[in-house]
Amino acid sequence: MNTARIDRIDVYCVRGPRKEAVRSGTTGATPVTASEFGVIRIVTSDGCQGLGEISITYPRIGFTLCHAARRIVAPRLIGQDARRAPELLALVDTILAGELSAPYLRAAFEIALLDWNGRHHGVPLYAMLGGKCRDRVPLAWGIYQKSPEEMARDAAAGVAAGYHAIKLKVGRRLADDVAAVRAVAEALGRKVPLRLDANMAWGSVPEASAAMRALAAEAPIAWFEQPLSRGNLQGMRLLRQQAIAPVMADESLQTLRDAYELARAEAADVFNIYICEAGGVQAAAHIFALAAALDIPCILGSQAEMGIGTAAAAHLGVAVPNLTHAWETFGPLRYEAELVRPATRIEDGWLYPAEGPGLGIELDEDVLAAWMAGE
Ligand SMILES: [Mg+2]
Repeated sequence: MNTARIDRIDVYCVRGPRKEAVRSGTTGATPVTASEFGVIRIVTSDGCQGLGEISITYPRIGFTLCHAARRIVAPRLIGQDARRAPELLALVDTILAGELSAPYLRAAFEIALLDWNGRHHGVPLYAMLGGKCRDRVPLAWGIYQKSPEEMARDAAAGVAAGYHAIKLKVGRRLADDVAAVRAVAEALGRKVPLRLDANMAWGSVPEASAAMRALAAEAPIAWFEQPLSRGNLQGMRLLRQQAIAPVMADESLQTLRDAYELARAEAADVFNIYICEAGGVQAAAHIFALAAALDIPCILGSQAEMGIGTAAAAHLGVAVPNLTHAWETFGPLRYEAELVRPATRIEDGWLYPAEGPGLGIELDEDVLAAWMAGE
């Protein structure tokens, strides 16, 4: 009997309550109070399991992707050999046929297959990625949009807690952004360069340029993240040429192909790479490799992944050679509870991978049951 035969794939819709409501440049007045994500559990005939996570904050289509995982992808993987992960992922690619949200689903299945294979072979995921370059991953801390005083307080608390960089969302009325950036910069003694994420909020190169100049006058700036719409690579290039501060691509960058197009258009100084947007841990690693070849610094960003997605990030983070800036993979801290055991280890601004086989984690079945949504 083939003990690696996939017998069952569970897909759970989960609604993880956030500690704080989220607002960003693109969502205006509708705050997100819970993440609607998915959990995938692959079970083979020997009882071995693999866990994956469907993570997507905006747009809020996590449950739609769960439905697709359950009805379209999972049935085609039942009966297949879980050891043949690349072959199964090629099948997933064929099933999803390049659909725009395909990378999020693919990533969930890829993480689950990697976790299964790690457990099957008895090695941690980072060992399957080639081994460790380091033992832990430096993290930045993200500040939500609130009053300037509250944002200044949150930023100071983040630095005091050991985080290596501070990220703010901008893209509101410019006067509000200026007040917030000024307050945060003053609270940090203007010593910490700020990552300012516009989430595509500015409508043109002149508008973005004016906003960037106004904000750069208030604080040292690490970079401006995604000042323009995702397809406006030419505009991003023009902003780079103004040399106000480095320009980071986020929404413009999902897949390896996007990274190539950005580099070709000379549209970004820095890449923000996501496991879920790239299509998996290995797909993200490929973008890191391309960026290294092109001397483009990059970080791993987050969709506020829960414990499974963040575990995958931790393993990639200790294995990837080119880690030049703090990552933003602090997702589990955004939730009222932890979905996995052991809990994600984040201490003094550092993220650590679990040491067990695969991802090194198990689902907390009580939290899963509490968060499970009916869809
Ligand atoms: Mg962003």
